[in-house]
This record gives sequence, C-alpha cells and structure tokens, in this order.
Amino acid sequence: MKFGGTSVADVERIKSVAKRVKREVDAGHEVAVVVSAMSGVTNQLVTWTSEIARLHDAREYDVVVATGEQVTSGLLALALQEIGVSARSWVGWQIPIHTDDAHGKARIERIDTAEIERRFAQGQVAVVAGFQGVGPDNRVTTLGRGGSDTSAVALAAALKADRCDIFTDVDGVYTTDPRIVAKARKLDKIAYEEMLELASQGAKVLQIRSVEMAMKHRVRLQVLSSFEDKPGTLVVDEDEIVEQEIVTGVAYSRDEAKITLVRVPDRPGVAAAIFGPLADHNINVDMIVQNVSEGGQFTDLTFTVTKADLERAKKVLEDRRVALGYQALVPDSNVVKVSVIGLGMRSHAGVAQRMFKALAEKGINIQVISTSEIKVSVLVAEEYTELAVRALHTAYGLDAA
Ligand code: ASP
Ligand code: MG
Repeated sequence: MKFGGTSVADVERIKSVAKRVKREVDAGHEVAVVVSAMSGVTNQLVTWTSEIARLHDAREYDVVVATGEQVTSGLLALALQEIGVSARSWVGWQIPIHTDDAHGKARIERIDTAEIERRFAQGQVAVVAGFQGVGPDNRVTTLGRGGSDTSAVALAAALKADRCDIFTDVDGVYTTDPRIVAKARKLDKIAYEEMLELASQGAKVLQIRSVEMAMKHRVRLQVLSSFEDKPGTLVVDEDEIVEQEIVTGVAYSRDEAKITLVRVPDRPGVAAAIFGPLADHNINVDMIVQNVSEGGQFTDLTFTVTKADLERAKKVLEDRRVALGYQALVPDSNVVKVSVIGLGMRSHAGVAQRMFKALAEKGINIQVISTSEIKVSVLVAEEYTELAVRALHTAYGLDAA
C-alpha cells in the first residue's frame, strides 16, 4: 500500500490511513506501506536548498529532501501502534534500498527484504519512507520527484506482493484529465504499455519509472482513492483486458517548446551536428521534423524540447551558428503536445486520420506530428489545449454517456 502526500497531509489523515491499513491486516494480509512526505513538504525542502545554494551539492540536497518521508513513516507507525497494530518505520538505508549514485534521480538497484519478511511472520507491518535509498558510498539518495510510487513498486516486486495499491487523491486513471473534460471516464483496467505512454505524455498520476518497473516485473498495480472506499484502476498485462478500445486515453503536456532552424544546409551529417551537442548538454529532444529541401540545398528543421530546456538549447545552437550554417533560429514556447494512446491502434487503420479530422473541424492547426505503434501526438498552439483535448475525447467515442 502506498499513500501519497495528500493522503498523509495532516494528523487526522494519517490516522485514517492507519485504519485503512488495519483493515488489510485484519483480513489476514502481510502489509508493507510506503509513504510520501506530507503534501507541500517536499516543495518547501527543495525551496530551502535552492535558497542557500542555487547550484547545490546534490548529495546534501538529497539529505534535506529525504526528511519529509522520514517524518510520515514515523507518524504512521505511531498511528498504527495506537490502534493496536504492530508496526515499525524504515528509512531507506535501514532496509536497505540500494540505489546508484545519481543523486536527485537515483535508480533502485536492489532491496534487501529479509528482515522485513522475518517481521511479517511475527505480524509486524513495515512502514517504509518512500522516495529514498542509499548510494554505493553509503550516502542518502532520492529517486526524483514523485519517486515514492517507484519505491512502492520496487518494494512490491522485491516482496513478490500480490498487489501494489497506490492510494492517491484521485480515484483512478481516467480517459483524460477530468478537469478539462467533464465526461472523462474512469478506466477499470489499463495495460502497462498504455499507462506508460499516458504517464510519458503528461498524465501525472504515476511516476513514469514506477510504471516501467511494474511492467518489467509484472507487478499488478492499482490506482485508487484514499478518501473513498471503492475500486480504482488496475494496471495490468494487456492479455487481461478483454474489450480493447482503439484509443484508451487522451493526454496533453504543456511542458513543450518548439525550435525551428530555418534554411539549414541539406547535407549528410547536419542532423548529427545539431542533435549531438544537444545530447551532450543533456537536453532531451522529443518530436523532430525535417522538410524536404528546396532544390536539394537547404531545409528547415523543427524539434521540441521541454520548456525548462529551451533557453539552454537556444544557447547551444546559437554558439554553433556559423558551423551549422542555418539562417535563423525561431523559438516558440506557446505550444502543447496532445496525444491519443491505445493498444488497439496496432490493428486498426485510420486512427491518425480521425485525429486530424477532429482537429481540422475545430480550426486547430497542427504544427508537428509524431507517431509510435500505440500513440499519435500533435503539437498545436497552447491556447487550443482544452478545445483539442475535448474534441479528441469525443471523436474517439470516449465521452461518458
Ligand atoms: N515527496 C516526494 C515528492 O514530492 C516523493 C513523492 O511524493 O512521491 O516528489
Ligand atoms: Mg505522486
């Protein structure tokens, strides 16, 4: 069982989490609980570190931001003891949860569950601080924002748990953002691959890495509300999904910026010369289009990066302007990426066409298109976000009756 920040936001909520855990214990289950920091706490900790040092030592950053989860793990263990459940807290290094040394975004390598399992046998609940581990040099590491989802899935995999329940402030995974589309529907089940695309394309309900890990280790995940008592959405193998829709969900990401290089000389090696330095600066490029050149001499090249990387990307390319030989660099951060996702696309024709038609009918211009086996994404002007998402939700028959 994993409880996110809003589920442990204050003492009253921690007490009700304890009751929810007790129900599972009373039903005869062995339970490990992973907790996030109380909502807002991690943001505050991050702010403090950057107020002291803008370019901080990532190892000390981790020491600071990992504390939020330590507080909630202790509080929940106390709350469980108060209602007669045997429980103890565990921070990352105590278990230990071994990670690599990539401070601030460390990856879990191994979890030693022997002691937790020994205590399960004695009826003790393990309350584990999410988001953290211990690096090769014995220093505290954290897993990146939203990382306690990944802690929970990794622990579930290591314990070979029957299920990993992610309790949150929404009651499941929806066909799209319900704040934009009132007719969004909660999905009973979604396949790992689809959930991975949804998370990668901007749906924020699970950390991307947690879905990757669940898929790799075939952990049955459930996303459900910690405030209401009803089933959530199961994230499972596609074989378990009987009625596969063509499109399962519509996602959007405002965290996009577009760069166009105008009149780039069209010769072998030019793309490598542009994208090589961007990669060297750790700038992740997503969509790319290159035009057919005019008369075989020049071409325009457009690609997207995250909004946060836009300034750095501009600088990298402007520094190389003479060598790359382009005429102009045109940045645009007024864009949104809208994606439709579904395993059913693999076996159906005309899926992209339906998207283009629905957007055309609303007068929305498509700037860039990219596709994968189970996804079609388009880049449009940011002011069309709501209109585009609603139109696509309707066009693929996803609206609730
Ligand atoms: N508290 C951490 C964060 O806000 C980890 C988590 O909640 O998943 O990013
Ligand atoms: Mg989260």
